[in-house]
Amino acid sequence: MTDWTRLIRDVPGFPKPGIVFKDIMPMLADAQAFAAAIEALAAPWREARIDAVLCIEARGFLLGAPVARALGAGMVPVRKPGKLPGAVIEQRYALEYGEDALQVQADALPPGTRVLLVDDVLATGGTLAATRLLAERLQADVVGAAVLIELGFLAGRARWHDAAPLRAALTL
Ligand code: AMP
Repeated sequence: MTDWTRLIRDVPGFPKPGIVFKDIMPMLADAQAFAAAIEALAAPWREARIDAVLCIEARGFLLGAPVARALGAGMVPVRKPGKLPGAVIEQRYALEYGEDALQVQADALPPGTRVLLVDDVLATGGTLAATRLLAERLQADVVGAAVLIELGFLAGRARWHDAAPLRAALTL
């Protein structure tokens, strides 16, 4: 299978000095690498009976939607404030670079839905932890989380508190 990891590009100093941004765009643009990366994300969850994938704005949409298709699941976008119509629930959280909030539609999922959380990069873990809280507030059953890249040196996994399996396709 194609080595998709060689198409992840480091961009030092973006979006701020001191951050090395993991740019997944060259990987997404390559048909074989994109397919291999989606397979790497989805494969561990094939038998997990996932009903819906919670996809975190914005690069989590690009990965989570094809993962949902690969698993025969639906997808629910988790978005920055002000993007989703109707009643929403919101969770504030700290980022590697700043502070932000995420929202999900209040009626996105029936209680008990088996969900998988998907994002591109696990850094400090705040985004994924906030998304888990949103899922719990929806009364979803959080089966696990899948990230393409885990920045191990930032120890974001500690904020997940082993609540459910957290799998990274690539750990750096
Ligand atoms: P955190 O909440 O610190 O784990 O940050 C994760 C979120 O921020 C993800 O949605 C990523 O898209 C983004 N992010 C944080 N650090 C990076 C990085 N070094 N490269 C690319 N994206 C990042």
